[in-house]
Amino acid sequence: MEDTDTADRRSGALLAAACGDALGAGYEFSKPMADDAPVDMVGGGPFGFAPGEWTDDTAMAVAVAEAVASGGDPSSDDFQDRIVERWYDWADSNPPDIGNQTRAVLGRGDRTAEGLRDAAYSHFVHHPDGSAGNGALMRTAPLGLARLTERGFFEAAALVGELTHADPVSSEACGIWTYAVHHAVVHGTFDGVRAALDYLPEDRVDHWAGLLDEAETQPITAFEHNGWVVHALQAAWAAIVQTPVPDDDPPAHLRLALERAVRAGGDTDTVACIAGGLLGARWGASALPTAWTSKVHGWPGYNAADLVRLSRPDPLSRVLGEPLS
Ligand SMILES: [Mg+2]
Repeated sequence: MEDTDTADRRSGALLAAACGDALGAGYEFSKPMADDAPVDMVGGGPFGFAPGEWTDDTAMAVAVAEAVASGGDPSSDDFQDRIVERWYDWADSNPPDIGNQTRAVLGRGDRTAEGLRDAAYSHFVHHPDGSAGNGALMRTAPLGLARLTERGFFEAAALVGELTHADPVSSEACGIWTYAVHHAVVHGTFDGVRAALDYLPEDRVDHWAGLLDEAETQPITAFEHNGWVVHALQAAWAAIVQTPVPDDDPPAHLRLALERAVRAGGDTDTVACIAGGLLGARWGASALPTAWTSKVHGWPGYNAADLVRLSRPDPLSRVLGEPLS
C-alpha cells in the first residue's frame, strides 16, 4: 500500500497539470501580465473553452494516464498502440484545438504507434528547425507515475514523446520532466529536475545545466518562445523556482506558481500544464484550490475524480500494484 502522502502526490501530478491547463486556456497567446493581474479559471481564450475545461494538453495526457493506470510495459507496442488509439478517438471528436505539429503527424499516421512514429520522424526530417514544439512535454506527467527503473523514465518518455515529436531535444526535455515528476512523487521535492541530468547523454549534461541555470536566474518573460519545448520547460521551471514558498502555507506555492506561469503569456495553458505536473507531484492534489478542482473537466467527459482514479495503481496489476522503488 502506498502511504497517503504518496497517493496525494500521484493524484496531484495529474490533477494539477489539468488545472494548470484549464487555468491557462483562457489566456493563450496573451502578452505577459503584471505580477498582480488576477488569473482565474475563466475559460474562453482563442478557442472558446468552457470555464474549467482542459485543452489538448490534458486530453492527450489522459490517453497516457489510462495506459499507465492499466499497467503494462511502456516500451511495448500494446501500451503505445493503446495511447495512439485514444489520441485518434480524441481527434475524431472534433476538439476545439489540436497543436499544429500533432495535427500534421496524426494526419499522416495510420492509427498505429509505429505509423505515427514514422510520420513524426518524417516531419522532423522535413522540418528540422520546426519539430521541437512543446506538444510532447505537455503530456509527460502521467508517465512519471509508471513503475519503471530510474533510467526507464527516460526511455519511456522518449518512446511516448517520439510518437509525435522526433526532435531529440524534445525527448531530452520529456525525459527530464518525467523523471522529475516521478522523483517528486517519491521524495516530495523538486530535486529530481537537477538529478535527472545524470541520465542524459554525457555531452548534453552541461547544456541542460546551463538551461536550468537560466530558468532559475532570468525573468520568466525571457523564455518568450514558449511554444518551443526548451523555452516551455524553462518557463515552467522559472515559475516554480522563482515563486517563493509561503512560510505560513507552503502548499499554496502550487497555486501561486501556476498563476505566475499563466502571467508569463504566450502558450499559457501548456506552460502551466507542464509546471502543474511537477507542482502537483510535489505538493499533492490536496494543495489545489477547491475552486479549481470543482470546475476542471474535459475530454472524454472526465472531471477531477476521474483523474484521481487514473492516478491510482490498478490493484490487479502486478506491474503497478507494488510500491515504487
Ligand atoms: Mg493546449
